[in-house]
Amino acid sequence: MKLDDLESLLQRAISLLKNSKHTVALTGAGISTPSGIPDFRSAHSGLWKRYDPMEVASLMVFRHNPQKFYEWIHPLAQQIRDATPNPAHVALARLEKAGYLDGVITQNIDALHHRAGSHVILELHGHLRQATCVSCYEVYDTDGIMEAFIQSGEVPRCVKCGGVLKPNAVLLGEQLPYEVVRSAERLLAKCELMIIAGSSLQVVPAATLPIPALNAGAKLIIVNHTPTYLDERADVVIHGDVETVLPYLADGVLGKNHE
Ligand SMILES: [Zn+2]
Repeated sequence: MKLDDLESLLQRAISLLKNSKHTVALTGAGISTPSGIPDFRSAHSGLWKRYDPMEVASLMVFRHNPQKFYEWIHPLAQQIRDATPNPAHVALARLEKAGYLDGVITQNIDALHHRAGSHVILELHGHLRQATCVSCYEVYDTDGIMEAFIQSGEVPRCVKCGGVLKPNAVLLGEQLPYEVVRSAERLLAKCELMIIAGSSLQVVPAATLPIPALNAGAKLIIVNHTPTYLDERADVVIHGDVETVLPYLADGVLGKNHE
């Protein structure tokens, strides 16, 4: 991409953001990789190449062999604890605070949007802040539980009944949280502009969520390293680093010195 082409794409994106009354961001693993969290659905990335996510991160495996699941998620839990939001997360939080973004719909379970200061966050794949006992359904906040697990590697158990605790993250083969998906659909139904950042749009339902809004005339900005199947329907496609492009857009909309 030539530099002046990139500049004109960025300016076009800034103008779309300034002129939209309702903008929603949809984020995927690519927004958190600059924070050091690997995309655990792509089996070939570093740490995860020893595991097939279909084999370890599925509900079936969890039911039959929670130990195996917890061995797999152990390094990820540690990385999530140690990660900090990067400039892409911060840019979206700034846009929301200034009234230029209605909210973030994310495929990530790392809570980095929360930690960056975003408020309206719909986590399609759940999160690790809570866990539920598979036997008695008691729900636990995981602050101390995750830390103990990171230290000991032992499968977390329910203090009431001894049942295994399952993080409230959506495993493969598991239903998505219905209310979250509905809220995401509602948010998108009234949006005039979507920003898809760091998602290759290969995982359903994130992949198909933008379609009704697009059909209703919403504009679309895509910032992602690799092409997506919606590139041809987007108004602006930038194949670049989210942690560079999103802050540039936020600065363009809000001014550099705006918090
Ligand atoms: Zn229990």
